[in-house]
Amino acid sequence: MGDAIPAARYADRLARARAGVVSAGASALLVAVGPELEWLTGYTAIGGERLNLLVITADGDPLYVSPRLEAPAAAAAPGLAHGSVPIVAWEETDDPYALVAALLPTAAGPCLISDGARAAFVLGLQTARPDVAWALASLVLAPLRRVKDEDEVALLRAAAGAADRAMERIVSGPLVGRTEADVARDVREALVDEGHDSAEFAIVASGPNSASPHHEPGARVIVPGEPLLLDIGGRLAGYHSDITRTIWIDDQSGRGPHPDFAAIYELTAAGQAAARAAVRPGITFEALDAVARDAISAGGFGDRFIHRLGHGIGLEVHEAPYVVAGNHDVVMVGDTFSCEPGIYLDGRFGVRIEDVVRCTAEGGESLNHSPRELRVVAGR
Ligand code: ZN
Ligand code: ZN
Repeated sequence: MGDAIPAARYADRLARARAGVVSAGASALLVAVGPELEWLTGYTAIGGERLNLLVITADGDPLYVSPRLEAPAAAAAPGLAHGSVPIVAWEETDDPYALVAALLPTAAGPCLISDGARAAFVLGLQTARPDVAWALASLVLAPLRRVKDEDEVALLRAAAGAADRAMERIVSGPLVGRTEADVARDVREALVDEGHDSAEFAIVASGPNSASPHHEPGARVIVPGEPLLLDIGGRLAGYHSDITRTIWIDDQSGRGPHPDFAAIYELTAAGQAAARAAVRPGITFEALDAVARDAISAGGFGDRFIHRLGHGIGLEVHEAPYVVAGNHDVVMVGDTFSCEPGIYLDGRFGVRIEDVVRCTAEGGESLNHSPRELRVVAGR
Protein backbone atom coordinates (compact mmCIF):
# COMPACT_ATOMS: atom_id res chain seq x y z
CA MET A 1 0.00 0.00 0.00
CA GLY A 2 1.12 3.55 -0.55
CA ASP A 3 2.63 3.22 -4.01
CA ALA A 4 -0.37 4.72 -5.74
CA ILE A 5 -0.57 7.84 -3.54
CA PRO A 6 2.22 10.37 -4.24
CA ALA A 7 4.56 10.72 -1.24
CA ALA A 8 4.06 14.50 -1.19
CA ARG A 9 0.38 13.93 -0.40
CA TYR A 10 1.28 12.54 3.03
CA ALA A 11 3.14 15.69 4.08
CA ASP A 12 0.05 17.69 3.14
CA ARG A 13 -2.23 15.37 5.12
CA LEU A 14 0.04 15.56 8.18
CA ALA A 15 -0.02 19.35 7.97
CA ARG A 16 -3.80 19.42 7.67
CA ALA A 17 -4.16 17.03 10.60
CA ARG A 18 -2.00 19.26 12.77
CA ALA A 19 -4.03 22.31 11.72
CA GLY A 20 -7.12 20.34 12.71
CA VAL A 21 -5.64 19.62 16.14
CA VAL A 22 -5.04 23.33 16.65
CA SER A 23 -8.49 24.41 15.47
CA ALA A 24 -10.17 21.73 17.61
CA GLY A 25 -8.40 23.12 20.67
CA ALA A 26 -6.75 19.75 21.27
CA SER A 27 -3.23 19.31 22.62
CA ALA A 28 -2.19 16.31 20.54
CA LEU A 29 -3.32 13.61 18.15
CA LEU A 30 -2.16 10.02 18.70
CA VAL A 31 -2.67 7.76 15.71
CA ALA A 32 -2.54 4.00 16.20
CA VAL A 33 -2.07 1.31 13.57
CA GLY A 34 -5.07 1.24 11.25
CA PRO A 35 -6.75 3.23 8.50
CA GLU A 36 -6.01 6.62 10.08
CA LEU A 37 -2.28 5.86 10.16
CA GLU A 38 -2.48 4.52 6.63
CA TRP A 39 -4.18 7.69 5.43
CA LEU A 40 -1.65 9.97 7.13
CA THR A 41 1.57 8.09 6.30
CA GLY A 42 0.91 5.19 3.93
CA TYR A 43 2.24 2.89 6.68
CA THR A 44 0.44 -0.41 7.11
CA ALA A 45 2.25 -1.46 10.28
CA ILE A 46 2.01 -4.95 11.70
CA GLY A 47 1.39 -3.43 15.11
CA GLY A 48 -0.27 -6.06 17.19
CA GLU A 49 0.34 -5.84 20.93
CA ARG A 50 3.38 -3.58 20.59
CA LEU A 51 2.63 0.14 20.79
CA ASN A 52 3.02 2.05 17.52
CA LEU A 53 1.87 5.68 17.59
CA LEU A 54 2.14 8.66 15.32
CA VAL A 55 2.30 11.62 17.70
CA ILE A 56 1.18 14.99 16.32
CA THR A 57 1.24 17.75 18.88
CA ALA A 58 -0.37 21.14 18.42
CA ASP A 59 2.96 22.92 18.82
CA GLY A 60 5.65 20.58 17.48
CA ASP A 61 6.68 18.43 14.55
CA PRO A 62 5.23 14.91 14.26
CA LEU A 63 7.10 11.90 15.65
CA TYR A 64 6.57 8.21 15.10
CA VAL A 65 6.90 5.89 18.10
CA SER A 66 7.80 2.38 16.97
CA PRO A 67 9.05 -0.85 18.50
CA ARG A 68 12.75 -1.19 17.61
CA LEU A 69 12.19 -4.30 15.45
CA GLU A 70 9.63 -2.47 13.31
CA ALA A 71 11.57 0.80 13.00
CA PRO A 72 13.11 -0.11 9.62
CA ALA A 73 9.64 -0.86 8.22
CA ALA A 74 8.31 2.42 9.62
CA ALA A 75 11.22 4.37 8.15
CA ALA A 76 10.42 2.94 4.72
CA ALA A 77 6.77 4.07 4.73
CA PRO A 78 6.14 6.79 2.12
CA GLY A 79 4.89 9.37 4.63
CA LEU A 80 7.66 8.69 7.17
CA ALA A 81 10.59 8.13 4.80
CA HIS A 82 13.81 10.13 4.47
CA GLY A 83 13.51 11.48 8.01
CA SER A 84 10.40 13.50 7.16
CA VAL A 85 8.97 12.17 10.42
CA PRO A 86 11.61 11.13 12.98
CA ILE A 87 11.21 7.59 14.33
CA VAL A 88 11.45 7.19 18.12
CA ALA A 89 12.23 3.50 18.70
CA TRP A 90 11.58 1.69 21.96
CA GLU A 91 13.26 -1.55 23.09
CA GLU A 92 11.41 -4.70 24.06
CA THR A 93 12.09 -4.01 27.76
CA ASP A 94 11.13 -0.31 27.68
CA ASP A 95 7.82 1.09 28.93
CA PRO A 96 6.35 2.67 25.77
CA TYR A 97 3.62 4.44 27.74
CA ALA A 98 6.17 6.35 29.80
CA LEU A 99 7.92 7.25 26.54
CA VAL A 100 4.73 8.61 24.95
CA ALA A 101 3.64 10.31 28.18
CA ALA A 102 6.86 12.32 28.13
CA LEU A 103 6.18 13.45 24.56
CA LEU A 104 2.70 14.79 25.29
CA PRO A 105 2.36 18.50 25.98
CA THR A 106 1.18 19.75 29.33
CA ALA A 107 -1.08 22.19 27.53
CA ALA A 108 -4.78 22.16 28.22
CA GLY A 109 -7.04 20.59 25.65
CA PRO A 110 -7.81 16.95 25.11
CA CYS A 111 -5.50 14.45 23.54
CA LEU A 112 -7.16 12.77 20.57
CA ILE A 113 -6.56 9.06 20.03
CA SER A 114 -7.51 6.73 17.16
CA ASP A 115 -11.03 5.39 17.34
CA GLY A 116 -9.67 1.91 16.71
CA ALA A 117 -6.78 2.01 19.22
CA ARG A 118 -6.57 -1.03 21.47
CA ALA A 119 -8.10 -0.61 24.92
CA ALA A 120 -4.76 -1.74 26.40
CA PHE A 121 -3.01 1.20 24.72
CA VAL A 122 -5.63 3.72 25.81
CA LEU A 123 -5.65 2.49 29.40
CA GLY A 124 -1.84 2.39 29.47
CA LEU A 125 -1.66 6.00 28.32
CA GLN A 126 -4.40 7.09 30.72
CA THR A 127 -2.45 5.58 33.59
CA ALA A 128 0.79 7.22 32.46
CA ARG A 129 -0.85 10.63 32.02
CA PRO A 130 -3.80 10.89 34.44
CA ASP A 131 -3.90 14.68 33.92
CA VAL A 132 -4.87 14.38 30.25
CA ALA A 133 -8.45 14.33 28.92
CA TRP A 134 -9.05 11.99 25.98
CA ALA A 135 -11.25 12.25 22.91
CA LEU A 136 -11.56 10.51 19.55
CA ALA A 137 -9.20 11.22 16.65
CA SER A 138 -12.11 11.04 14.23
CA LEU A 139 -13.13 14.48 15.52
CA VAL A 140 -10.27 15.87 13.42
CA LEU A 141 -9.55 13.08 10.93
CA ALA A 142 -13.01 12.00 9.73
CA PRO A 143 -13.79 15.34 8.02
CA LEU A 144 -10.38 15.23 6.30
CA ARG A 145 -10.61 11.59 5.21
CA ARG A 146 -14.16 11.67 3.90
CA VAL A 147 -13.43 13.86 0.86
CA LYS A 148 -11.45 11.74 -1.57
CA ASP A 149 -8.71 13.35 -3.66
CA GLU A 150 -8.14 12.45 -7.31
CA ASP A 151 -5.65 9.68 -6.55
CA GLU A 152 -8.03 8.10 -4.08
CA VAL A 153 -10.89 8.34 -6.57
CA ALA A 154 -8.73 6.65 -9.20
CA LEU A 155 -8.07 3.75 -6.82
CA LEU A 156 -11.72 3.49 -5.77
CA ARG A 157 -12.70 3.51 -9.44
CA ALA A 158 -10.16 0.78 -10.28
CA ALA A 159 -11.37 -1.31 -7.32
CA ALA A 160 -15.00 -0.86 -8.39
CA GLY A 161 -14.13 -1.94 -11.94
CA ALA A 162 -12.39 -5.05 -10.62
CA ALA A 163 -15.45 -5.83 -8.48
CA ASP A 164 -17.75 -5.36 -11.48
CA ARG A 165 -15.71 -7.87 -13.48
CA ALA A 166 -15.61 -10.34 -10.60
CA MET A 167 -19.39 -10.02 -10.27
CA GLU A 168 -19.87 -10.78 -13.97
CA ARG A 169 -17.71 -13.88 -13.66
CA ILE A 170 -19.78 -15.22 -10.77
CA VAL A 171 -23.15 -14.32 -12.32
CA SER A 172 -22.19 -16.22 -15.48
CA GLY A 173 -22.02 -19.39 -13.37
CA PRO A 174 -21.85 -22.28 -12.71
CA LEU A 175 -23.97 -21.88 -9.57
CA VAL A 176 -26.64 -24.59 -9.46
CA GLY A 177 -25.75 -27.60 -7.32
CA ARG A 178 -22.88 -25.83 -5.56
CA THR A 179 -22.76 -24.67 -1.96
CA GLU A 180 -22.68 -21.01 -0.99
CA ALA A 181 -19.26 -21.58 0.59
CA ASP A 182 -17.92 -23.03 -2.65
CA VAL A 183 -19.17 -20.07 -4.68
CA ALA A 184 -17.73 -17.71 -2.04
CA ARG A 185 -14.30 -19.24 -2.66
CA ASP A 186 -14.76 -18.49 -6.38
CA VAL A 187 -15.74 -14.92 -5.51
CA ARG A 188 -12.53 -14.41 -3.53
CA GLU A 189 -10.44 -15.81 -6.35
CA ALA A 190 -12.25 -13.68 -8.96
CA LEU A 191 -11.79 -10.51 -6.88
CA VAL A 192 -8.00 -11.03 -6.84
CA ASP A 193 -7.83 -12.23 -10.46
CA GLU A 194 -9.62 -9.09 -11.61
CA GLY A 195 -7.18 -6.71 -9.94
CA HIS A 196 -7.64 -6.50 -6.17
CA ASP A 197 -4.65 -7.11 -3.91
CA SER A 198 -6.92 -9.05 -1.55
CA ALA A 199 -10.48 -10.28 -1.27
CA GLU A 200 -12.15 -8.85 1.82
CA PHE A 201 -15.67 -10.27 1.93
CA ALA A 202 -17.94 -12.51 -0.10
CA ILE A 203 -21.56 -12.75 0.98
CA VAL A 204 -23.22 -15.50 -1.05
CA ALA A 205 -26.82 -15.86 0.15
CA SER A 206 -29.12 -18.27 -1.66
CA GLY A 207 -32.89 -18.66 -1.46
CA PRO A 208 -34.24 -17.73 2.00
CA ASN A 209 -30.71 -16.82 3.17
CA SER A 210 -30.94 -13.73 0.94
CA ALA A 211 -33.29 -12.28 3.57
CA SER A 212 -30.34 -12.08 6.01
CA PRO A 213 -28.36 -8.96 5.02
CA HIS A 214 -25.03 -10.15 6.49
CA HIS A 215 -25.46 -13.86 5.80
CA GLU A 216 -22.38 -16.04 6.30
CA PRO A 217 -22.02 -18.37 3.26
CA GLY A 218 -22.45 -21.97 4.31
CA ALA A 219 -23.32 -25.48 3.24
CA ARG A 220 -26.65 -24.65 1.62
CA VAL A 221 -26.76 -25.87 -2.00
CA ILE A 222 -27.97 -23.39 -4.65
CA VAL A 223 -31.00 -24.68 -6.55
CA PRO A 224 -33.01 -23.42 -9.53
CA GLY A 225 -36.07 -21.27 -8.90
CA GLU A 226 -34.62 -19.03 -6.20
CA PRO A 227 -32.66 -15.79 -5.84
CA LEU A 228 -28.96 -15.46 -5.14
CA LEU A 229 -27.61 -12.38 -3.41
CA LEU A 230 -23.92 -11.57 -3.92
CA ASP A 231 -22.28 -8.80 -1.83
CA ILE A 232 -18.57 -8.79 -2.59
CA GLY A 233 -15.51 -6.61 -2.20
CA GLY A 234 -11.76 -6.40 -2.00
CA ARG A 235 -8.89 -3.95 -1.53
CA LEU A 236 -6.73 -2.40 -4.21
CA ALA A 237 -3.74 -0.36 -3.00
CA GLY A 238 -5.62 0.01 0.30
CA TYR A 239 -8.92 1.18 -1.20
CA HIS A 240 -12.08 -0.91 -1.05
CA SER A 241 -14.73 -2.07 -3.47
CA ASP A 242 -18.24 -3.07 -2.37
CA ILE A 243 -20.97 -4.18 -4.76
CA THR A 244 -24.19 -6.14 -4.33
CA ARG A 245 -26.32 -7.74 -7.02
CA THR A 246 -29.27 -10.08 -6.55
CA ILE A 247 -30.05 -12.45 -9.41
CA TRP A 248 -32.68 -15.12 -10.05
CA ILE A 249 -31.65 -18.69 -10.85
CA ASP A 250 -34.07 -19.88 -13.55
CA ASP A 251 -35.83 -23.21 -13.13
CA GLN A 252 -36.38 -23.57 -16.93
CA SER A 253 -40.15 -23.91 -16.39
CA GLY A 254 -40.82 -20.73 -18.34
CA ARG A 255 -42.46 -19.15 -15.30
CA GLY A 256 -39.53 -16.81 -14.60
CA PRO A 257 -38.87 -15.23 -11.22
CA HIS A 258 -41.47 -15.54 -8.46
CA PRO A 259 -43.80 -12.54 -8.89
CA ASP A 260 -43.35 -11.48 -5.24
CA PHE A 261 -39.59 -11.50 -5.77
CA ALA A 262 -39.88 -9.56 -9.02
CA ALA A 263 -42.06 -6.99 -7.23
CA ILE A 264 -39.60 -6.33 -4.41
CA TYR A 265 -36.73 -6.33 -6.90
CA GLU A 266 -38.34 -3.59 -8.99
CA LEU A 267 -39.13 -1.57 -5.87
CA THR A 268 -35.55 -1.86 -4.58
CA ALA A 269 -34.15 -0.94 -8.00
CA ALA A 270 -36.45 2.09 -8.22
CA GLY A 271 -35.47 3.27 -4.73
CA GLN A 272 -31.78 2.77 -5.52
CA ALA A 273 -32.01 4.64 -8.83
CA ALA A 274 -33.92 7.51 -7.19
CA ALA A 275 -31.31 7.83 -4.44
CA ARG A 276 -28.43 7.78 -6.92
CA ALA A 277 -30.18 10.44 -8.98
CA ALA A 278 -30.69 12.58 -5.86
CA VAL A 279 -26.97 12.74 -5.01
CA ARG A 280 -25.76 16.31 -5.29
CA PRO A 281 -23.71 18.72 -3.19
CA GLY A 282 -25.86 20.23 -0.43
CA ILE A 283 -28.39 17.45 0.10
CA THR A 284 -28.19 15.91 3.59
CA PHE A 285 -27.27 12.26 4.07
CA GLU A 286 -30.54 11.89 5.95
CA ALA A 287 -32.49 13.20 2.95
CA LEU A 288 -30.68 10.81 0.64
CA ASP A 289 -31.62 7.87 2.84
CA ALA A 290 -35.21 9.13 2.81
CA VAL A 291 -35.38 9.21 -1.00
CA ALA A 292 -34.85 5.44 -1.21
CA ARG A 293 -36.85 4.73 1.94
CA ASP A 294 -39.87 6.75 0.78
CA ALA A 295 -39.95 4.90 -2.55
CA ILE A 296 -39.81 1.53 -0.80
CA SER A 297 -42.36 2.60 1.84
CA ALA A 298 -44.75 3.78 -0.88
CA GLY A 299 -44.62 0.23 -2.25
CA GLY A 300 -45.56 -1.13 1.18
CA PHE A 301 -42.18 -2.52 2.26
CA GLY A 302 -40.70 0.32 4.37
CA ASP A 303 -40.58 -1.95 7.43
CA ARG A 304 -38.53 -4.52 5.48
CA PHE A 305 -35.76 -2.05 4.59
CA ILE A 306 -34.00 -2.69 7.87
CA HIS A 307 -30.69 -0.86 7.49
CA ARG A 308 -29.28 2.53 6.51
CA LEU A 309 -28.96 3.40 2.83
CA GLY A 310 -25.18 3.36 2.85
CA HIS A 311 -21.74 4.08 4.26
CA GLY A 312 -18.64 5.97 3.26
CA ILE A 313 -15.92 3.86 1.69
CA GLY A 314 -12.19 4.32 1.27
CA LEU A 315 -9.37 2.78 3.30
CA GLU A 316 -12.17 1.23 5.37
CA VAL A 317 -15.06 -0.58 3.76
CA HIS A 318 -17.41 1.12 6.24
CA GLU A 319 -16.34 4.63 7.26
CA ALA A 320 -17.87 8.06 7.74
CA PRO A 321 -20.05 9.53 6.35
CA TYR A 322 -23.01 7.24 7.01
CA VAL A 323 -26.10 7.66 4.85
CA VAL A 324 -28.65 7.31 7.61
CA ALA A 325 -31.59 9.10 9.24
CA GLY A 326 -30.22 11.48 11.86
CA ASN A 327 -27.11 12.41 9.87
CA HIS A 328 -27.81 16.06 9.09
CA ASP A 329 -24.42 16.62 7.43
CA VAL A 330 -24.59 17.76 3.84
CA VAL A 331 -23.05 15.85 0.98
CA MET A 332 -19.92 17.49 -0.47
CA VAL A 333 -18.04 17.07 -3.72
CA GLY A 334 -15.60 14.21 -3.16
CA ASP A 335 -17.79 12.24 -0.74
CA THR A 336 -17.82 8.60 -1.81
CA PHE A 337 -20.37 6.23 -0.28
CA SER A 338 -22.47 3.18 -0.98
CA CYS A 339 -26.09 3.34 -2.11
CA GLU A 340 -27.59 0.00 -1.07
CA PRO A 341 -31.28 -0.24 -0.27
CA GLY A 342 -32.74 -3.68 0.37
CA ILE A 343 -36.01 -5.44 1.08
CA TYR A 344 -35.90 -8.59 3.23
CA LEU A 345 -38.81 -11.03 3.62
CA ASP A 346 -37.86 -13.42 6.44
CA GLY A 347 -37.94 -17.06 5.45
CA ARG A 348 -38.63 -16.29 1.79
CA PHE A 349 -36.10 -14.06 0.05
CA GLY A 350 -34.41 -10.69 0.00
CA VAL A 351 -33.07 -8.16 -2.48
CA ARG A 352 -30.23 -5.68 -2.19
CA ILE A 353 -28.68 -3.58 -4.95
CA GLU A 354 -25.49 -1.71 -4.10
CA ASP A 355 -23.19 0.64 -5.93
CA VAL A 356 -20.41 2.94 -4.74
CA VAL A 357 -21.34 6.51 -5.68
CA ARG A 358 -19.15 9.60 -5.72
CA CYS A 359 -20.56 13.11 -5.42
CA THR A 360 -19.32 15.45 -8.14
CA ALA A 361 -20.29 19.08 -8.77
CA GLU A 362 -22.79 17.77 -11.33
CA GLY A 363 -24.32 15.11 -9.09
CA GLY A 364 -23.79 11.45 -8.29
CA GLU A 365 -21.49 9.25 -10.33
CA SER A 366 -21.65 5.50 -9.83
CA LEU A 367 -18.22 3.89 -9.79
CA ASN A 368 -19.89 0.53 -10.46
CA HIS A 369 -21.37 -0.25 -13.84
CA SER A 370 -22.54 -3.84 -13.47
CA PRO A 371 -26.12 -4.16 -14.85
CA ARG A 372 -28.85 -3.38 -12.31
CA GLU A 373 -31.90 -4.84 -14.01
CA LEU A 374 -33.22 -8.17 -12.70
CA ARG A 375 -31.11 -10.83 -14.33
CA VAL A 376 -32.45 -14.37 -14.75
CA VAL A 377 -29.59 -16.83 -15.23
CA ALA A 378 -29.40 -20.53 -15.90
CA GLY A 379 -26.61 -20.91 -13.39
CA ARG A 380 -25.19 -23.89 -15.22
ZN1 ZN B 1 -21.79 -4.55 0.31
ZN1 ZN C 1 -21.80 -1.71 1.55
